[in-house]
Amino acid sequence: MSEEPRVAVVGAGIVGLCTAYALLERGVEVRVYEQGVPGNGQSGGSSRIFRHAHDDPRLIAATQESRDLYDRWGQELEVEMVSGDGAVAIGPAVESKLPLLQEAGVAARRIDAGELAAVQPLLAPYDGPAMLDERGGSIRTTAVVDALVAPLGDRLVRDEVLSVRPVADEVEVRSSGSTHRYDRVAVCAGRGTAHLARTLGLALPVQDGAHVRLTFAVRGEPPQRLATLQDSSGVFGETGVYAAAVPGNAEYAVGLSQTTRARDDASLPDPDELADLAGRAAAYVRRALPGLDPEPVDVRHCWVTTLPWGEDGVGVWERDGVLFPAGHNLWKQAPALGTRMAGGLVAQTLHPDLHPSARLGRG
Ligand SMILES: Cc1cc2nc3c(=O)[nH]c(=O)nc-3n(C[C@H](O)[C@H](O)[C@H](O)COP(=O)(O)OP(=O)(O)OC[C@H]3O[C@@H](n4cnc5c(N)ncnc54)[C@H](O)[C@@H]3O)c2cc1C
Repeated sequence: MSEEPRVAVVGAGIVGLCTAYALLERGVEVRVYEQGVPGNGQSGGSSRIFRHAHDDPRLIAATQESRDLYDRWGQELEVEMVSGDGAVAIGPAVESKLPLLQEAGVAARRIDAGELAAVQPLLAPYDGPAMLDERGGSIRTTAVVDALVAPLGDRLVRDEVLSVRPVADEVEVRSSGSTHRYDRVAVCAGRGTAHLARTLGLALPVQDGAHVRLTFAVRGEPPQRLATLQDSSGVFGETGVYAAAVPGNAEYAVGLSQTTRARDDASLPDPDELADLAGRAAAYVRRALPGLDPEPVDVRHCWVTTLPWGEDGVGVWERDGVLFPAGHNLWKQAPALGTRMAGGLVAQTLHPDLHPSARLGRG
C-alpha cells in the first residue's frame, strides 16, 4: 500500500470486494477489513445464478451494468466470472418477466421444449412457458473471490471491526487490533451490517433468515452446456426453485428460494425448518431433474438478509460519512452496486436508485 488510505471497506464478501476493486480502478487507496475468510459469509459456496430477470426495470438496468463489469473485470483479471451457458426460467413468471427483459434490450427469448432440453439436459420433459436469458449463467464464485482478493495485497486486513463512528469530519474505525480514521467508510458486512449501523443509531429494516442449498452429481458425462434454472411452474411440486452449475458442469446446486426467518438474536423459531427445506429440495430433484443422482454430495447453509420491499430488494443507507448497503441476491448486483458505491464514496453523491426511498428491486 503506497499511502495511508482515506477510504475503508468493512467486509470482504462479494459486495465489499467489488467496492474495493472499483475504488482501486479510480486510483483510490483503500483498506479492507475481514473478520473471517474472504467470500465465506453469505457469498460462500460454489456457483450462483446470474440472471437479468427482475420485476423492477431499474434493477434489470443495474444487472446489465453488472454483467458488462463481470466481463470487463474477467478480462482484466484473466478469469471467467460468469459461464456462457445462459439462464433458463420455466413457469408463469416467464409471462411477466420476458417482456420487461426485451424492453430493456436484454438478449432473452421464449424457447420450446426441444431447445429447453438442449440447454438444460438435466430436466424432465416439460412443455410449458420457458425462456432463455442468453447472457445469464452460473457465476464462478470461488474464482471471482480469488481474482478480486489478489489485487488487494496488504490492503486486506484480517480483523473484526467493532465500531465505526464520526470524529470531527472523519470516520473512526475501531477493529480488534487497530484504530484508524478515514474520510469515508462502506460497511459491506452482510449480516453484520445492521449491527454496525445500529451503533450509529441507524435501524436497517433487514430481515435475517437461514437458508439451505444442496449440490448433486450429474449422472454420466457432464454436459457441454448447462444453463441455470429457475422453476416457478409447480409442475414438479415446487414453485420457487433455483439452480446453478458448479464449474465443469459435473455438479448442480439446487435450492428453494424460501428461507426460515430468524429472530433478532439469530435463533430460529422452528429448528426443523432447515431440514424440511433440504428434504423438499431433494424430493424436487427426484421428480424434476432425472439427470442428477438424487443423493446430495454437498450442502450450503447460510444466512440471508432480505429487505421488506422484495426478495431482490437493495438499498444503501448513509450516516456520518458511512455507507451501509443491504439486500439479498447481491451476487449478480455486486459489480454495479460496488461501482456505484465507490462513486458515492469518492464524489459524496450516491446513485439515486440506491437511496432506500427508491425501493430498488421492489416486487
Ligand atoms: C445458498 C444461497 C444461494 C444464493 N443464490 C444466489 C444467486 O443465485 N444469485 C445471487 O445474486 N445471489 C444469491 N444469493 C445471495 C448472495 O449470496 C448474497 O446476497 C451475497 O453473497 C451477499 O454478499 P455480501 O458481500 O453482502 O455479504 P457477505 O458475503 O456475508 O460478506 C460480508 C463479509 O463481512 C464480514 N464481516 C461481517 N462483520 C464484520 C466485522 N464486524 N468486521 C469485519 N468483517 C466483518 C463477513 O465475515 C463476510 O465475509 C444466495 C445466497 C445463498 C446463501
